[in-house]
Amino acid sequence: MNTDATPPDWHDRAAALRPETRAFIAGRYVDAQDGRTFDDIGPADGRRLAAVASCDTADVEAAVASARAAFDGGRWSQMPPASRKRVLLRFAELLLAHRDELALLETLDMGKPIADSLKIDVPSAARCIQWYAESIDKLYDEVAPTGPRSLATITREPVGVVGAIVPWNFPLVMAAWKIGPVLAAGNSLVLKPSEKSPLTAIRIAALAVEAGVPEGVFNVVPGLGHTAGKALASSMDVDCIAFTGSTETGKRVMQYAARSNLKRVGLECGGKSPNIVMADCPDLDKAATAAAFAIFFNQGEMCSAGSRLLVDQRIKDELLGRIAVVARKLAPGDPLDPSTRLGAIVDEAQLRRVLDYVDTGRAEGATLRLGGRRVREQSGGYYVEPTVFDDVAPGMRIAREEIFGPVLATLTFRDAEEAIRIANDVVYGLAAAVWTRDLKTAHRAARALRAGMVYVNCYDADDITVPFGGYKQSGFGRDKSLHAFDKYTELKTTWIDLG
Ligand code: NAD
Repeated sequence: MNTDATPPDWHDRAAALRPETRAFIAGRYVDAQDGRTFDDIGPADGRRLAAVASCDTADVEAAVASARAAFDGGRWSQMPPASRKRVLLRFAELLLAHRDELALLETLDMGKPIADSLKIDVPSAARCIQWYAESIDKLYDEVAPTGPRSLATITREPVGVVGAIVPWNFPLVMAAWKIGPVLAAGNSLVLKPSEKSPLTAIRIAALAVEAGVPEGVFNVVPGLGHTAGKALASSMDVDCIAFTGSTETGKRVMQYAARSNLKRVGLECGGKSPNIVMADCPDLDKAATAAAFAIFFNQGEMCSAGSRLLVDQRIKDELLGRIAVVARKLAPGDPLDPSTRLGAIVDEAQLRRVLDYVDTGRAEGATLRLGGRRVREQSGGYYVEPTVFDDVAPGMRIAREEIFGPVLATLTFRDAEEAIRIANDVVYGLAAAVWTRDLKTAHRAARALRAGMVYVNCYDADDITVPFGGYKQSGFGRDKSLHAFDKYTELKTTWIDLG
């Protein structure tokens, strides 16, 4: 961690960085067996950051075999809970001790502002591991009320080998949401980071081993989705796939599971979350600021982004005016500049996707109120202005499809019923928010909204103690909180005859 009084020069540090780029299998870094690599491109300037090991089936199977051997060997799966707790607490401390290095890797790899990586991503990942570590020796099993002639216990056991496939928008945090409960429950893990942002996952594997996680328990297989990801989800020896990513890929993962060994699957997928502002909104400035951050934070690359602003038509102009004031202060900048609040889009393909949706919105007849352009092009990187569309109709593609960029679609309604109807009329159901001073309206809306997370008079409230996940095509199963253990444990009933 930087302890100097002068702030670090992140560009100097970036120039000196030599990131580890190999897979981590059976406790050591190894190249892909066929020697292949893929280019990891830095979104800030479009230059190659590193050539990273491109794992394929043979590498994934080696990692799965090492995870299986470690699981069967019992050094982790049978370790007393209090000991496992100590190891994971040390792991969390090591993440914090390497905060600057991990934050730099994260920012270089996916383009988010260094200030966010330092203050949000690395501490949240560490806090997640710490929270699950602390939970390990506080969970009890059950005895069923079967009567005096028998004893029936209901115990939780680790499911075995878990494959985790994660996306690029919060590489470290999304990985931590899997690593924490997977390892706390005693499983072995094979982690496949996104090919767009593999560097922090590769780095923390060594920190896990340094903390005392036994060799083979924590493996990392960087690689492409249709090779490494498919091999992991299709493996006959993986017991569970914990997936975070797009709905389209989530459907494929389910098919691979069905065609192989019927492994269990948990899916955290996409969203098109409605942020509903009623005419009796208690604080329009607060709502405007929250609405802006709900779509522009992390360059809009957020599964739970409030990408649909549903506003009572009577206050629309007032609210949009205030959102524009906030948005204008969020001009995209150099991700390594500590004052930058909006960084670069992850890669050229995602940039194209975002700009294509801006064109689509215009062509569909929506009014572009703000932004919509690529900026800082001379840097070689991928930057898009905060963008706001007005006059969006519920049937338009920009109102129905996940853009995954800083593009807000504004729709209007006449009453609460119409708002709820529009809000629920998409295939997704991850998050939703409602702003009102009326208690009944708030409670009714919270009940009626088909979403895994509902916010009242706030957006994106967050804590490791609460479940995170969606309804409908946003997936199933939950990350975070004690409920995450449901994905990574089997329930066993044991009958003992006392008759
Ligand atoms: P993606 O689906 O393209 O990729 C996600 C992961 O799946 C990557 O590691 C990728 O390599 C892998 N993958 C791709 N094709 C695969 C295949 N055929 N088989 C197996 N694995 C494959 O998603 P992305 O672009 O990395 O991430 C953005 C998406 O993630 C958005 O839809 C976003 O909403 C979603 N997301 C959801 C949550 C949540 O908690 N619900 C959180 C973050 C992101």
